[in-house]
Amino acid sequence: MTDHISKNQSLLLLRGARVVLPQGIEQDVALLVEGNRIARVLRGADASPTHAGATLDLVGLTIFPGFIDVHNHGAAGIDTMEASADDLHHVSTFLASCGVTAWLPTLVPGADEDYSRAAQAVTGLMNEQDERPAAARALGIHYEGPFVNVAQCGALRTPYFRTYSNSSDLDTLTKIAHEGAAHMITLAPEIDGGIELVRELAARGWVVSIGHTRADVETLDRAAAAGARHMTHFMNAMLPLNHRAPGPVGWGLVRDDVTCDVIADGVHSDPLILKLILRCKTAERIALISDSIAPTGLGDGEYHIWDEKIAVVNGRTQNERGSIAGSVVTMLDCVRMMLSLGASAHDVARMAASTPARLLGVDDSCGSIEEGKRADLVALDDEGRVRLTMVGGRMAFRVE
Ligand SMILES: [Zn+2]
Repeated sequence: MTDHISKNQSLLLLRGARVVLPQGIEQDVALLVEGNRIARVLRGADASPTHAGATLDLVGLTIFPGFIDVHNHGAAGIDTMEASADDLHHVSTFLASCGVTAWLPTLVPGADEDYSRAAQAVTGLMNEQDERPAAARALGIHYEGPFVNVAQCGALRTPYFRTYSNSSDLDTLTKIAHEGAAHMITLAPEIDGGIELVRELAARGWVVSIGHTRADVETLDRAAAAGARHMTHFMNAMLPLNHRAPGPVGWGLVRDDVTCDVIADGVHSDPLILKLILRCKTAERIALISDSIAPTGLGDGEYHIWDEKIAVVNGRTQNERGSIAGSVVTMLDCVRMMLSLGASAHDVARMAASTPARLLGVDDSCGSIEEGKRADLVALDDEGRVRLTMVGGRMAFRVE
């Protein structure tokens, strides 16, 4: 059994917990972690601690694949638009305490120099995060805008919005100088040059997501044909459903080849709507996101972010124009919300890990608990509290 286990890698056996595997939840399964990978998924007698190496008893806990947040503007007092690499690592550490093992720092529309500085910080973090103390890994960058619809701006700053005429318009989007970095963008295909923009970015390997949009069905079909395959904070910052003009919501609900993400905080969408989305899209086509902003983790108060005052009252954000300005929840809150609405642990694992991993094209290495994949894991107790977060086999958070 241990033939393939090399002698010089550290071994750790996680046993006693329920484990959420791709095929469903199983009891009496142990995970043998070797270095940064899950070396074995062990059952029955094999699951007992006979292997060389340490054993961690996790009786009473449920191990999920680590959560992946593809839309996050910061937390713990740090805004991704102003963060240094050290600041971002601070966010990564906070996120790990909430069960997140990977995330995409997400930028709001800003001046070229602000974009460039923020993207350099992400590059800096990515190039050294394996040497830093274990924390959620940044996987790349997500540009929310600037090619979006002014009429669905939400809390984004419209003076920085753009339309598209040729590839030099993309110079504003600094790429992450790290091999394998994911580049995601939220755009509105109906803006001038929008379809050409989708085609160009898809050809460059970007993950193109439709959002902040009022596109009609014909435009959305063209965007999908050009390479858009996802929708950002579905139902928020998009034209609402109308039975004679289905728009982005009607289109997104019925397109099985399009995934969508939702802020499952119960504020951005009513819990009943979250149930509706789950029923129409199924867990395989939903990614949970936090869309969290800097005050996340700090409590209610008034904060200065994105050149304006943002108030957090009873866990809700509001800017001076009265718009919701992102959330102050974490992926953990979204997971708990979906569980409270009756989603199974299996479905939650898909929404919080597998779907986002597939969206970013990293599902060959993470997003599910399988032999050979990274040991990116979170163990929750029955109250939904994080008891352990492991990132690439390293302990990033632990409550004894
Ligand atoms: Zn956002």
